[in-house]
Amino acid sequence: MLRSGLLGAVPHAFTGRAQGDLRRTQAAALAAVSATLGVAGPIRTVSQVHGQRVVDADKLDPDVLVEADALVATRPARWIGVRVADCVPVLLCAADGRAVAAVHAGWRGTAADIVRAAIGELRSRVPGAPLRAAVGPSIRGCCYTVGDEVIAGVAAVAPGRTWLDGRRVDLAEANRAILASEGVVVEVVGGCTRCGGRWWSHRAGDAERQLALIAVPG
Ligand SMILES: [Zn+2]
Repeated sequence: MLRSGLLGAVPHAFTGRAQGDLRRTQAAALAAVSATLGVAGPIRTVSQVHGQRVVDADKLDPDVLVEADALVATRPARWIGVRVADCVPVLLCAADGRAVAAVHAGWRGTAADIVRAAIGELRSRVPGAPLRAAVGPSIRGCCYTVGDEVIAGVAAVAPGRTWLDGRRVDLAEANRAILASEGVVVEVVGGCTRCGGRWWSHRAGDAERQLALIAVPG
């Protein structure tokens, strides 16, 4: 499983094809992943709707699936995660691991400023703490030619133009630029889900999903 050196001792991973299908319904595969990473399940997730809502995973009723696109947590040893197959997964933590967040950022979520919303929720829990982030595998500019609506939506929130090449948008780079502009130390890991061969890709016709997950150390 793919990890970021920046997140250090904070338990986290980005899964891919090798870990199988990690949709909500795939209980055995989810349990295998959490066991491999040394933090027992369950993995708290949300019903992702391409919006800007961030939920407090410590207060989630495990029997209720809430509509949101990011989770924050401060309780130790409890996984939070987002499912993706081309959209951008972003994992964040306080540098000392006291708080973590997982974000699902497709173009609509990116344009809705979901990453800044998650940064705000993290900072409210650990004021003054330096933050770190890892942007995981997603569809990259090589495979993502878009229309005006997407370019305008991303341009409204992402600084600079390093994420734009003609009509090709690199959402991982856009989210990296947003995180950096907020003072978050950030690393992009992995490649393009559409053409990289190691990940599930919605645009390539895959119904399966990979998971980005993170936990406060126990
Ligand atoms: Zn590609």
